[in-house]
Amino acid sequence: MVSRVIPVDPFDLVIFGGTGDLARRKILPGLYRRYYDGQMPEEARIIGAARSEMDADGFRDFVRGALDEFVTKRHDKKMVDAFLAKLDYVAVDAKGTGGWDALAKTMRDGVVKAYYFSVGPALFGDIADRLHEHGITDDDARIVVEKPFGHNLETARALNATLAAHFDETQIYRIDHYLGKETVQNLMAVRFGNMLFEPLWNAQYVDHIQITVSETVGVGGRGEYYDKSGAMRDMVQNHLMQLLCLTAMEPPSRYDPDAVRDEKLKVIRALETTGHDDIVRGQYKSREESYLEDVDNPGSITESFIAMKVRIANWRWNGTPFYLRTGKRMKERVSEIVVRFKEPPHSIFEEDTGQSANELTIRLQPNEGMDLTVTIKEPGPGGMRLIDVPLDMTFAEALGEEAADVPDAYERLIMDVIRGNQTLFMRGDEVEAAWAWTDPIIEDWTRREDRPYPYEPGSTGPEEAMILMHRDRRRWRELRA
Ligand code: NAD
Repeated sequence: MVSRVIPVDPFDLVIFGGTGDLARRKILPGLYRRYYDGQMPEEARIIGAARSEMDADGFRDFVRGALDEFVTKRHDKKMVDAFLAKLDYVAVDAKGTGGWDALAKTMRDGVVKAYYFSVGPALFGDIADRLHEHGITDDDARIVVEKPFGHNLETARALNATLAAHFDETQIYRIDHYLGKETVQNLMAVRFGNMLFEPLWNAQYVDHIQITVSETVGVGGRGEYYDKSGAMRDMVQNHLMQLLCLTAMEPPSRYDPDAVRDEKLKVIRALETTGHDDIVRGQYKSREESYLEDVDNPGSITESFIAMKVRIANWRWNGTPFYLRTGKRMKERVSEIVVRFKEPPHSIFEEDTGQSANELTIRLQPNEGMDLTVTIKEPGPGGMRLIDVPLDMTFAEALGEEAADVPDAYERLIMDVIRGNQTLFMRGDEVEAAWAWTDPIIEDWTRREDRPYPYEPGSTGPEEAMILMHRDRRRWRELRA
């Protein structure tokens, strides 16, 4: 049941920041898996470009180490050697002139040229300028840029303008790896490929929607960066916003990059400003462990948790709130969207028979899949007792173990870059619209010097987040891995 692997066109992919953490953990292992599966043609080449002085063999050793550490399935010595033979390396200084002539000489004509900017955003402008000066871009070349895409609307606009100086929007691939997840695409398949859900997908039948992205880890070694951004900028403005858009958008006329992104943009523009009564911010804190120590800033009022109630002002969703929550050092690592339908308008059964509302859960991790609870009669000779049972659509169960072994988000997205398909990448106006909604909320906290509530590490967040739901006679779905 596994779909055919269609090789992409020959390419030269340059990874700026090829020796960095992201390249080592995600990009290079992902590319190896695509090679192993036959999706990368023999003519393809991957060129590491970073500050470190090393030669191609040094880079190959570095990548071999990365594959040993991060590729578990499909690790095969012969295949690894063949993959490493496709690698090259050029030491470049993004801010200076060193290495650029050598890079220009390395690039071939007649293949897709892709440049992955896996470096801090402060270098995007310099790299774009150098590529242009050295004439190693053409109208068909693509650039891939990593998050964070700006710190607010002003910086996002400036970044968009910097890239637009040398590249057309059709050449810019802004990565949000959540969009590369199998289930996220499946959300579109389920919504728009079936008659079953779409007629019910509106305020008349949906009570509310919950989007949760919880992590068990704290801020780790990223303390300094994280403290300047917090959960709102780091997670809500991008990942949760993208999930909200795909859940709430109108059916696009085609599965085509701009048709999909136009509909997502309309959702962001229809978001009402969320007042502070509908937001709960938190910071993890116990005697042994605290956010403040992790970021080494005793006076920090940045949030490591946020829960919020969001409204979309349009016909489809008027009256159906979306509840978003995300946090670090929580009980379980879970990413899921829960669509909670309304209860039937009238029950023909006796009151305590146990009937409740249907729930569709779209799980991004762990165990990517979907799950729909339906109410049925409890088997047995007793009276009419009802129970809710899950109709489990975990990929492994439905399609076999092999089909569950789907490409990681990064692999899928990089192949889309080579294929020239922007559907799963954020467009510049989408990013700006998301900041335009986020900025006033953050400015309001700053003005009021809003302080986050403390929560126990390993919990489900501050008590106040529960109250946010209880106030509306609703509850968060239990955090279950
Ligand atoms: P890193 O610090 O581990 O690596 C940075 C890379 O950039 C290195 O290869 C370094 O040699 C290169 N570099 C730095 N200055 C340079 C210069 N002047 N000229 C040429 N090369 C230079 O960073 P990372 O964690 O790999 O992150 C890269 C980008 O990806 C960042 O924008 C980050 O925000 C983003 N990102 C990273 C992760 C992650 O999990 N690491 C996740 C999401 C987004």
